[in-house]
Amino acid sequence: MSINQEEADLIAKDRQYVWHAMTPYNEQAPPMVVTEGKGSWITDNRGNRYLDGMSGLWCVNVGYGREELARAAYEQLKSLSYYPLTQSHVPAIRLAEKLNEWLEDEYIIFYSNSGSDANEVAFKIARQYFEQSGAPSRYKFISRYRAYHGNSMGALAATGQAQRKYMYEPLAGGFLHVRPPDSYRRPEGMTVEQFNLQCALDIEETIHWEGQETIAAVIMEPAITGGGVIVPEPIYLEKVRDICTKYGVLLIMDEVICGFGRSGRKFGHMNYGIKPDIVTMAKGLTSGYLPLSVTAVRKDIYEAFKGKEMYSHFRHLNTFGGSPASCALALANLEILEREQLVERSAALGERLTEELSVLLEHPIVGDIRSFGFLMGIELVSDKQTKEPYPLAGVVRIIGECKAKGLIIGKNGDTVAGYNNVLTISPPLSSTDEDVTFII
Ligand code: PLP
Repeated sequence: MSINQEEADLIAKDRQYVWHAMTPYNEQAPPMVVTEGKGSWITDNRGNRYLDGMSGLWCVNVGYGREELARAAYEQLKSLSYYPLTQSHVPAIRLAEKLNEWLEDEYIIFYSNSGSDANEVAFKIARQYFEQSGAPSRYKFISRYRAYHGNSMGALAATGQAQRKYMYEPLAGGFLHVRPPDSYRRPEGMTVEQFNLQCALDIEETIHWEGQETIAAVIMEPAITGGGVIVPEPIYLEKVRDICTKYGVLLIMDEVICGFGRSGRKFGHMNYGIKPDIVTMAKGLTSGYLPLSVTAVRKDIYEAFKGKEMYSHFRHLNTFGGSPASCALALANLEILEREQLVERSAALGERLTEELSVLLEHPIVGDIRSFGFLMGIELVSDKQTKEPYPLAGVVRIIGECKAKGLIIGKNGDTVAGYNNVLTISPPLSSTDEDVTFII
């Protein structure tokens, strides 16, 4: 299809006025202007259709174009468009109750706008909790290399991808990193189990060397997603949970991507039978239809904020966090996930995708395939023996060729360590069987 004048003007205006996220400026390859979405498919302003194998940014769990969600927001905006959560409103209360059902335990819910916000809130709550419960020296956080936890100064400090960080340093202080349980790249002679256990013990060793009384929390995703789809063995998370309990360190689980069915369970950590102290969530909470995030905090941590001191309450406020329309929409989104059994569907579709794509392992550049529910990483290498990462230009070319065939897939976040070599697939959980066939 040739570009008509209207389209050319639109692109020219985009080039003049819009600064795009994480995207190098390229005159020859202007952005796709997306105009519509339905189910797993999006359409651009030239009428091209693509299966969105990344659910936008891993977030459109129930698929695009759900009128039910638009209506939930519309009805709420008509009756109460806004009120801050220094007081309360009905959708915030109902959603907090519903999230407790989803979490299968009692948590108190703090609302914000984005995954980064939710993690910042978790860090501030952890620090204030220790400050107010007689352990003010506990201020450090342990995270993993390759993890991504957001773009703000604390969440980026927790992130373990140097290329995203180095131009903005110094970031928030007190963030330490350990290696992730990347079983594919484990040292020779170690079994996967031994290596996963060792990676968990790295955390214990860090606590030891830093001084137990200085560590506030460990933050991790159940499986590292954007950092290359690194899925731990059960022994890893079980041991991390034990270590945190042993040393009085809080375990913050970043469920921003893994939550709301992506992992084949309601939340990613439920695959491992562990209970976090704090759970952060965003993205799939509203399927990306409106901004909303949550920091869910164990009830007894909240108790430490109930003191009589003038400033012992949590001194954090954001204008839009937990807006009535976002909460109402999130509730409707959870209803869809439940009614259409999309958590179970995620597990089933993920299993099919993994099984049918495993044939790719025979390809000379496919080193490893990893999946976590309906989320997959395909690690590309130049040499299967040395596991030399496949060059970025080649990875980008493959993504481009998929797009030319009507399929959008992604790649893991850049790191200066050179691991930009994992293709990522994370389609809407509502994808049809035909959609999955198309991806395969
Ligand atoms: N945590 C994880 C695991 C993420 O993948 C992201 C975003 O991709 C974030 C946090 C930050 O979320 P947001 O972009 O909504 O700030």
